[in-house]
Amino acid sequence: MTNITNGMRQSKLFTKTRKEAPADEVSKNAELLVRGGFIHKEMAGVYSYLPLGLRVLNKIENIIREEMNKVGGQEVLMSSFQPKENWEKTGRWEAMDDLYKVSDTSGREVALGPTHEEIVVPILKNFLSSYKDFPLNSSLAIYQIQNKFRMELRAKSGILRGREFMMKDMYSFHTDQKDFEQFYETMKGVYKIIFERVGIGHLTYLTFASGGTFSKYSHEFQTITSVGEDTIYVDEKSGTALNKEVCTDEVLGQMNLKKENLVEHKSIEVGNIFDLKTKYSKPFDLSFTDEKEQKHAVLMGCYGIGLSRLLGAVVEVLSDDKGIIWPESIAPFKIHLLALGDDETVLQEAEKVYENLLKNDIQVLFDDRAGISPGEKFADSDLLGIPYRAVVSTRSMKEEGGIEIKKRTEEKGKIISLNELLLLQKPKA
Ligand code: ATP
Ligand code: MG
Repeated sequence: MTNITNGMRQSKLFTKTRKEAPADEVSKNAELLVRGGFIHKEMAGVYSYLPLGLRVLNKIENIIREEMNKVGGQEVLMSSFQPKENWEKTGRWEAMDDLYKVSDTSGREVALGPTHEEIVVPILKNFLSSYKDFPLNSSLAIYQIQNKFRMELRAKSGILRGREFMMKDMYSFHTDQKDFEQFYETMKGVYKIIFERVGIGHLTYLTFASGGTFSKYSHEFQTITSVGEDTIYVDEKSGTALNKEVCTDEVLGQMNLKKENLVEHKSIEVGNIFDLKTKYSKPFDLSFTDEKEQKHAVLMGCYGIGLSRLLGAVVEVLSDDKGIIWPESIAPFKIHLLALGDDETVLQEAEKVYENLLKNDIQVLFDDRAGISPGEKFADSDLLGIPYRAVVSTRSMKEEGGIEIKKRTEEKGKIISLNELLLLQKPKA
């Protein structure tokens, strides 16, 4: 798990908020994230993560890692530079349009990893040759969380579609179809949990999509948003959806769905799971011998989630006209503590609240900046979207309790005491 520190003083934070969106940024997610100082744009589709943005990314990463470990996933970190020979073996050196091909002065060419089948399969080939090399009573699954590179032509959606972006990719390896199917079903449930924990479960649907050449369907997880590039048909009753691309009468019949019950939405794919069968094991001869010394190709599945896209999707669907609204599970901090005005007793009181929050292991961003008007501090707080705003001011200190607390989603706050503030419930996550 990435360790995330509890406290931060805004007076020391090197990033600043900006009132205006960058002129060249057309998407809401990038506009708000850049204005809040979460990310910095390097070029179209390429962003750096700054302290606040990295905290959110790390929290998403920790949730996903926790869920992958629960199903027995073994974490690795594979290389981004990938041998050309491997890509020629699968035919994707020529066939994959968005592959970055990098060459050095000696003329050697390598691929910059857009996905890792060409790496993970040869690695496993070193270790798998017999059915005895597979774990007993569980499935073999390898995963990583890492930056991917793709030559996206339409990189206009902020971090929803990056040329460099963070992905969790898991690959599973099976000796029989039943083991594969069980694991695949488990992963459907795990993905559902992940999107719920990240705070967009209510807008995210398991979606049937075409599986390409090697299987009938794949499953996508689509989050409803007007800026999405996909169109899906949702059946609210069953909680499932179909990608428009596959919505034929035949498919509807097979899925037992009625056209008149489906509602059309724009959506973005935040994750997907695939039955790879032997598509990648065969080119590398990844195989095993069974009890009767018969040789078979290994069956595979793959399971992706775009972490940076997920972060962007949360901003797209959960913000309002004042700024971002982070779900508590992935918010950069739980509490945004504001000291209003430059009155010495207010500052002392706010310092005391800050120290106590830290002592109690509560994550807090402390706006201790001098010479900033209350209006500016409130506007920044709304933009940054931390779930609770706690204000210490001469006005709040006149009342019993002394701290004004307000949820980001509420209009009005109320006065509470330090003890009550410390008792704010921990997120369920
Ligand atoms: P899309 O159809 O949106 O291009 P894809 O089918 O190419 O997605 P996969 O190759 O299956 O996506 O990648 C797995 C996951 O990685 C996707 O579900 C998505 O969440 C994320 N992802 C894919 N491409 C990008 C990108 N350019 N920027 C950010 N995230 C991405
Ligand atoms: Mg793509």
